[in-house]
Amino acid sequence: MSETVERHEFGAEVGRLLDLVVHALYSEREIFLRELVANAADAVDRRRFEALTDPALTLPEAPKLRILPDKEARTLTISDAGIGMGKADLVEHLGTIARSGTLAFAKSLAEAPAADKPSLIGQFGVGFYSAFMVADRVEVTSRRAGTEEAWLWASEGRGDYTLAPAERAEAGTDIVLHMKGDAEEFLEPFRLQTIIRKWADHIAIPITVARDGQ
Ligand code: ADP
Ligand code: MG
Repeated sequence: MSETVERHEFGAEVGRLLDLVVHALYSEREIFLRELVANAADAVDRRRFEALTDPALTLPEAPKLRILPDKEARTLTISDAGIGMGKADLVEHLGTIARSGTLAFAKSLAEAPAADKPSLIGQFGVGFYSAFMVADRVEVTSRRAGTEEAWLWASEGRGDYTLAPAERAEAGTDIVLHMKGDAEEFLEPFRLQTIIRKWADHIAIPITVARDGQ
């Protein structure tokens, strides 16, 4: 591993939440896409808002969320031109659970009888870590709007993550999911479209699902 790669432990609650989300919600795995699309849309909204007072952050014209399945590489990429994350943002937002909502969710999930667990996901946003329901490795390349540097956050969802300098031509974020062997259905463009219609119909930003590998 290169010397510039830093290894960090997850905050204590992250491991517990990961375990809960990955195991308790197995039958509802498709909602990972709802969560990642919602985050991407939030990031675009945030950039739009910040650009009101800082024109340097102005969004590219007609921003889109792009979903790119690649069957050969067995990856699914979700890209946005949103506000992006700097190094400190990655540590704070993806390395710890800052939100009380997530902790409340973890608690409810732990206490609910098995039959009630799936309905809990409608009440709480499961969040970024739901990616680990379908992926055994998640890589996030992000560049904060208004800055030049990009960072790569990567984790296998087992207690730690790495951070390394990266390159990204524009501000925004790419989430690359290395799909589990039993999650290949989520590399089918048609399946992805169906999930988006079901869960992300209210998202105001256009979402494109690329044909495989294109
Ligand atoms: P929530 O969206 O409810 O805050 P998540 O677990 O889904 O919780 O995401 C945690 C945080 O990570 C977000 O609040 C945001 O700060 C950051 N984040 C996640 N995805 C992105 C993204 N695509 N662009 C910018 N920031 C992101
Ligand atoms: Mg979210």
